[in-house]
Amino acid sequence: MTERKAAVIGGGVIGGGWVARFLLNGWDVAVYDPEPEAERKIQEVLQNARRSLPALYDRALPDEGHLAFQSDFGEALDGAAWVQESVPERLELKHQIHADLTALAPPNAIIGSSTSGFKPSELTAQGARVIVAHPFNPVYLLPLVELVGEAGQCADAAAILRSVGMYPLIVRKEIDAHIADRLLEAVWREALWLVKDEIATTEEIDEAIRMGFGLRWAQMGLFETYRVAGGEAGMKHFMAQFGPALEWPWTKLMDVPDFTPELVDLIAGQSDAQSGHLSIRALERLRDDNLVGILRSLRRTKSGAGGVIVDHEASLPPVMESVLPVTVLRQVPETWTDYNGHMNEAHYLEAGAQASDRFMEMIGADAAYIASGLSYFTVENHVRYLAEVHAGDELKITTQVLATEGKKLHLFHSMTRGDGTLAATMETFLLHMDFQARKSVAPQGAVAEALAQYAAAHRGLAMPDGAGRFVGQRAAQ
Ligand code: NAD
Repeated sequence: MTERKAAVIGGGVIGGGWVARFLLNGWDVAVYDPEPEAERKIQEVLQNARRSLPALYDRALPDEGHLAFQSDFGEALDGAAWVQESVPERLELKHQIHADLTALAPPNAIIGSSTSGFKPSELTAQGARVIVAHPFNPVYLLPLVELVGEAGQCADAAAILRSVGMYPLIVRKEIDAHIADRLLEAVWREALWLVKDEIATTEEIDEAIRMGFGLRWAQMGLFETYRVAGGEAGMKHFMAQFGPALEWPWTKLMDVPDFTPELVDLIAGQSDAQSGHLSIRALERLRDDNLVGILRSLRRTKSGAGGVIVDHEASLPPVMESVLPVTVLRQVPETWTDYNGHMNEAHYLEAGAQASDRFMEMIGADAAYIASGLSYFTVENHVRYLAEVHAGDELKITTQVLATEGKKLHLFHSMTRGDGTLAATMETFLLHMDFQARKSVAPQGAVAEALAQYAAAHRGLAMPDGAGRFVGQRAAQ
């Protein structure tokens, strides 16, 4: 078994997303899908994933793994530690595939099914070894995976999924459609009634979601949102106020409208009028850019999916380039660019500040150190803008310690683009502070030692070009 090889069986919308999730987290992936168009579609999904997933992080993900399209089922499975089935949602097809997977997959491999609706007991009814690993589209950006099935396999699966930046939610008791799709089903059912009864169009229903409660759900879910809605009186008050409403005729509850050809045409026609001017790939890119923006804002407070990204990022290993630490290795997100498509000057400074922050973490002056009342403060920066940078470019910053003496620290960040061009330099001067005493003091203990080691390793290096510069124009007299 190869430690980090995934076999993806069925490479459609969901299979393609799994390919991207594993591949961009450094896993080798083999795909088995008899459909001739599968390879083209997966390559297109991968292009979208490459421009969005790394933009969630301020550090580099592992080097991309190797992707192979296999026409032989057994070869695709060979050496796989994870096997993910994502074929169409038909029970007899799943039974047939899982019988083969159980016979041919490596005995220790986790075998997951992406099924949206079937319970593990249905999938294993004929003796297959499989758990439900139900993801959400786009699989490469959304962390949630519902795991249902045998406890030991679910626990092993959860550890692997965390290592590729996902959030495994173990479902305690099996139920048709698991947890999330049951909630979505209720909303979907009501939406179908609203369209059928000509209360609202597909577009108006989408506005009702995205202009309001959709924004709340991303960061607090349902119950925490309602708790806040109860005001100071809290959840009990909320329940007392709105609970009785469920008995009013607000909801059609379990009643489902007939899926007549007329209803399907009505909805498909309204949807074409709403979004038909954009291709599916363009809509996916729009969705991905918006998700990256929302997820990045959730990072700050570690709310919901933002916390998963912060934890995953902390597990990514540091990188060195000879004696210089690589303090930034990241992709430039779309949100850092200007109207002209170039990275805005403020974000050169932001990248430099990230390099200083990362260097602080490397010497142990991290969040816990700051909480203890000590920290470095930046007191001066000098940025030289040397080359344009665009969205999607890889940015690398190496950091050299120019001098350190007592409370003073003088750093030099060199920023290169993926093609090796020096794009900017940032010289920065920091002072070590004691918050309680409200004065600058020299660092002590492990931080002082780690810093001294970097300073010693950098002492013999040449002064970098541009160090010691100031704004080289005379001020007008
Ligand atoms: P899809 O139709 O886009 O993809 C299915 C793929 O399976 C196709 O590429 C098809 O060629 C391939 N396939 C068919 N028979 C096969 C076989 N015998 N061996 C290998 N490949 C075969 O469907 P999808 O939306 O990706 O759904 C796949 C699974 O994921 C379903 O179980 C579905 O319930 C689940 N799922 C879907 C979503 C979603 O939003 N679409 C979300 C979560 C889970």
